[in-house]
Parts: sequence; structure tokens; C-alpha cells
Amino acid sequence: HLEDAVRLDQLVLDTLRTFETQKGNHVLSADPLEACTILGDPGRLKQLLVILTGNALKYTPEGGMVTLSTSCQGDRVELRVRDTGIGIPASDLEKVFERFYRASHRMEKDPGGSGLGLAIARTIVEEHGGTIHLESMVGQGTTVVVRLPTHRDLN
Ligand code: ATP
Repeated sequence: HLEDAVRLDQLVLDTLRTFETQKGNHVLSADPLEACTILGDPGRLKQLLVILTGNALKYTPEGGMVTLSTSCQGDRVELRVRDTGIGIPASDLEKVFERFYRASHRMEKDPGGSGLGLAIARTIVEEHGGTIHLESMVGQGTTVVVRLPTHRDLN
């Protein structure tokens, strides 16, 4: 399925629906949402969005905000998942992509996890020829930035 035309903005809306009953007190929204199409595997890309949105909700205290966005930039598409959560220390920004690694900075009540989500996320992004990186400030929040190549004729 790697070669299907996938509307990333539709996948984002689909992901919001998936989390509608699990988002608790968080404000979960999409903004801005541009209509971007890429070639890829819709199932794997949905999995990517579920991992990143799940993390953003999990590591953001109640009442916080999680915002997804898409923007089409010529030969690539940028997907962002931004949260107002606990953040990740600079020294952990690369390590959190390793399998089983969990950052030392924890919530008062650690929700727990296997440390696999971001490793899988990176694998999916790389399968699609893209890149993934984190921007974060402890106590302020985290933004995951995913860049995926697009097909010239698609946007
Ligand atoms: P699981 O994969 O079972 O959900 P996990 O959340 O621990 O477990 P990853 O998704 O790989 O695993 O994340 C690795 C670590 O990175 C987390 O344990 C957490 O410390 C940190 N992390 C990931 N996303 C965020 C985020 N949005 N805000 C703060 N910390 C995060």
C-alpha cells in the first residue's frame, strides 16, 4: 500500500475522531489544516498519527492543549503535533527515538509506557522517505515535526 494517494488532512481529522472519547479534559484540535496529498501507506500513516497524538495527550496534564497541523510546502508536506505538556529535556531529544528508552523527566503520576512508540514512528516516517524531529522545552511543551516528500503532481 505504500503507493496510495493519501490526504494527510483527512487522516488528521480521522485521528481526532479516534481520540474523541479518550481525550479527557484536553483540548484536541487541528489548526491549520491544509489539504495535502502524499504517496504512502494509509494504515501506517494513521498509526504514526495515533502514536504522536497519544503521546501528546499522555504527557500533557489535564486541561492542556494538543494541536495537529498540516502544511503543503511544494515538494514536501509538514505535519506537526504540538502539546502544552511536560516537555522533554534537551539531553533526551535524540534518545527518545531509541527502542525502550523513556525520558527521565516524568509526570508526578507517570502514565507508564514501553518506550516503543517513537521508535515505531520514526520507522514509519523513514519508510516514507521523510524525517522526524522534536522541539521541546521542559515545562512548556513539545512539538513533533514530521516532513514527508510529496509527489510533484499531487498538490
Ligand atoms: P509507549 O510506546 O508504550 O506509549 P512511551 O510513551 O514511553 O511508551 P515513546 O512513545 O517511544 O514511548 O516515547 C519515549 C519517551 O519519550 C516517553 O517515555 C517520554 O518520556 C517521552 N515523550 C514522548 N512523547 C512525549 C511528549 N509529547 N511530551 C513529553 N515527553 C514525551
